[in-house]
Amino acid sequence: MATPQPAQRVDLRDLYRVIRWFISIRWVATIGVPLTLVTAQFILKIELAYPALYGTAGFLGMINLVYSLLHWRNADRHWTVNHYTALFHVQILVDYLVLLLLVYFSGFLENPFIYFFVFHVLLTSFIFPPAIMWMYVVGLMMLIAAVTSAECLGWVPHFTLSDVSLVSYCSNALPRSAGLCATLAISAYLITSIRLRIEAKGRAIEIELNRYKNLDRIKSNFILQVTHELRGPIAAVSGYHDMILRGITGEIGDKTASSLQKAERRTTNLLTIIDEMIDYAYMRSESESRYRWTEIQVDRSLTEMVDKHLTHAQGRRISIQVDCEPGLTIQSNRDLFDITLGNLINNAIKYSPADTTITVSAHRDGEDIKLQVSDQGYGIEADQLEQIFEEFYRTRHARELERDGTGLGLPIVKRAVESLGGRIRVYSEVNRGTRFDIWLPRDEQHQDSVEERDIETHSHH
Ligand code: ADP
Repeated sequence: MATPQPAQRVDLRDLYRVIRWFISIRWVATIGVPLTLVTAQFILKIELAYPALYGTAGFLGMINLVYSLLHWRNADRHWTVNHYTALFHVQILVDYLVLLLLVYFSGFLENPFIYFFVFHVLLTSFIFPPAIMWMYVVGLMMLIAAVTSAECLGWVPHFTLSDVSLVSYCSNALPRSAGLCATLAISAYLITSIRLRIEAKGRAIEIELNRYKNLDRIKSNFILQVTHELRGPIAAVSGYHDMILRGITGEIGDKTASSLQKAERRTTNLLTIIDEMIDYAYMRSESESRYRWTEIQVDRSLTEMVDKHLTHAQGRRISIQVDCEPGLTIQSNRDLFDITLGNLINNAIKYSPADTTITVSAHRDGEDIKLQVSDQGYGIEADQLEQIFEEFYRTRHARELERDGTGLGLPIVKRAVESLGGRIRVYSEVNRGTRFDIWLPRDEQHQDSVEERDIETHSHH
């Protein structure tokens, strides 16, 4: 999580964007200025210092070409914020000079285009901290005052736009320059205060978001602790059930055995639920970067995982087949890999009738491996297929079949697969079976970016 940006810092992306923007605006000016000049010279037939004006426009085009080349060559390279900031300051100063020359040679305060200075003030206030922006604004005001004074004192010639005498130009100079300066100052003030307000809001939101994330982490850790505490005693109870059932503690009658078997089934279900909650809380409290990556022998992992579920499956007269490409290995996280496979196999057993087969397979698929867990079970209705990955969601049918269940299994699988950089798809047909396809990158380098991860659901009807 990025820490909130202090208001004083210049953001490289903003700067980069504004520079590109300025370059485009300057290209418009490079074409627009000569066009305006041609119109003034040949159509409106206004007397102006044309050589100086065309020269300035040419200079603008040339310098903008230099900026474009610099910008284009150094984009995404080793230029830092400081380089860009320096380049931007140079650009602003040169722009001021160019605009000043253009309006100076075409009437200065008489020329309405002198208000174009406002654009620069607006854009610089987006980028720079208020102090620097005000320096520019005050500098600009002083420059305008200096040129006006020099014109009226006769130190530099005044190039009139509308044939007014110097006396009448100078008698209007004070209100005109005051109006211009006030416009510059007000624009700067407005933009700066809007920007500071937006930034303050952004920071407040970020702080709030971090607070919620923290609370969420605390909650997950709490669940993790509580479920861990619960697991120990319940596992012990299950162990004692087992001992009594095996007759280790002495002979027991059939009735006792039958009741105890029921108790044991419920205890095992409870343990499964607790394990799911532990996995879920673990996934929520752990950040992806903390997962350890190791080499996994897919063949062995699959067989081990199937063996773990064999008693459960046999108890329901369900057989499990493993079909794995020999020698297949992936770089992945063992915990997440096991959680994924374990949950899918467990679901396949839970939601299949007796005398059916579950197939677990793994094959190479380009840079990925493709894992498949398919069953010949009850299937999932098409309209519920989207929801099964949601937390605590259980289908109606599932609730009827299995009283105990959390609806956390598939959300855990989804998170695990995402953390491993993979993707998951489900295909299902009611009363025919369900198949989960998972693609996992074979090594860390080929992990997809977050944007590309997806879940797809498919149903055959
Ligand atoms: P739980 O199994 O605890 O209900 P899950 O998150 O593992 O929760 O699964 C969500 C729902 O998806 C289940 O309630 C069930 O309806 C459905 N489901 C998952 N796997 C299968 C499957 N192999 N066959 C049929 N339905 C399934």
